[in-house]
Amino acid sequence: MNHRTPAATVGVVGGGQLGRMMGEAAGPLGIELLVSDPTPDCPAAPIVREQIVGEFDDYDAIRELAERADVLTFEIELADPDEMARVGEETDTPVHPDPDTLRTIQDKLVQNRALAETGVPLPAFRRVDDADDLRDAGEELGWPLMLKAREGGYDGRGNRPVDAPEEIDEALDEIGGPALAEELVDFERELAIMGAVGDGETDAYPVTETIQREEILRESVAPARIDDAVRDRARKVAFDVLDLLDGRGVYGIELFETDDGDILVNEIAPRPHNSGHWTIEGTRCSQFEQHLRAVLGWPLGDTALRSPAVTANLLGDVESPRPAELVGTDSILETPEASLHWYGKREVRPLRKMGHVTLADDEHGRDALLSRARELVDDVTFE
Ligand code: ATP
Ligand code: MG
Ligand code: MG
Repeated sequence: MNHRTPAATVGVVGGGQLGRMMGEAAGPLGIELLVSDPTPDCPAAPIVREQIVGEFDDYDAIRELAERADVLTFEIELADPDEMARVGEETDTPVHPDPDTLRTIQDKLVQNRALAETGVPLPAFRRVDDADDLRDAGEELGWPLMLKAREGGYDGRGNRPVDAPEEIDEALDEIGGPALAEELVDFERELAIMGAVGDGETDAYPVTETIQREEILRESVAPARIDDAVRDRARKVAFDVLDLLDGRGVYGIELFETDDGDILVNEIAPRPHNSGHWTIEGTRCSQFEQHLRAVLGWPLGDTALRSPAVTANLLGDVESPRPAELVGTDSILETPEASLHWYGKREVRPLRKMGHVTLADDEHGRDALLSRARELVDDVTFE
């Protein structure tokens, strides 16, 4: 089959930094992006053909995307699967990944059950609706455990470690809704794999090592500093996960590596993922280009490593929201192997993802790249 280039329009629900970087990847291929996002002048707006202002479940906005695009996709888990499915049917527009996949992933309990059912290894978990459930979960899984909101959590908001039964009421109050408890994994490392599902082909990028502090991703190291056996096990688990998912696209699969070198799945993102940003410089076909190719049914691009790479996030280091202004980027701009990515968010908030820096080269080694990336990011402030 021959693919028409340029002649494709992709409609994306969500216009945050992921949509923005999709837009950056779309340009050279002649792909045009339309995004819908509730925030006027969203991060993707300056990069894409057009932003339609609308909530992530706004029927009219999603319908307009679908009417004008060859395929409908999303870059945020808050996209409404029901509206996307409905609009897809009404306008005969394919929706990728499948809204059913998004529906499963949106609810961490449903997601875990789907994984467990097919034998994918993951932390032991239990449904928690009330204090009795949480007490039972503690007896079964042991204290401390991790209490998670079933829906809507990101960057660790929605997670609450619970040390002992005395904290049950407070923890449930904080979560404030349906939850699940997971055994607290004493992991050696966290890993992630960006998988790509195309038209009859499946591929994955090299395993990424992810470093979280306060449950937020700070740095990613690629390829991960792990031995071959762990790498092979992680890839096997990732391909098993990809097998379960319906619809084309890039998926971010978050993993724990235990002390024994076992692999457990933490969660899946049905979209490009923060831990795959290094693919922009570290591979020939970034996760963003890959996602567009995948949803359009074009041949997948090369996922092989071009150069080891380390990404460090630029997180809002302020105590309260204020207009965002970036200061201290000179050393990044002066470092030959460094690439600065600024998401164009107008307002900085505590720990908000404002941008990232990637260092890619094969001379210095990953440890050195990581230390340098940390230094460069430390120089940046937002006032
Ligand atoms: P994201 O921004 O990745 O979507 P999230 O809010 O969905 O984050 P999780 O990925 O579930 O949250 O958890 C965030 C982090 O908390 C993990 O990367 C890990 O460091 C820690 N964590 C989560 N679950 C567990 C667990 N069962 N045991 C130990 N640590 C955990
Ligand atoms: Mg998550
Ligand atoms: Mg996560």
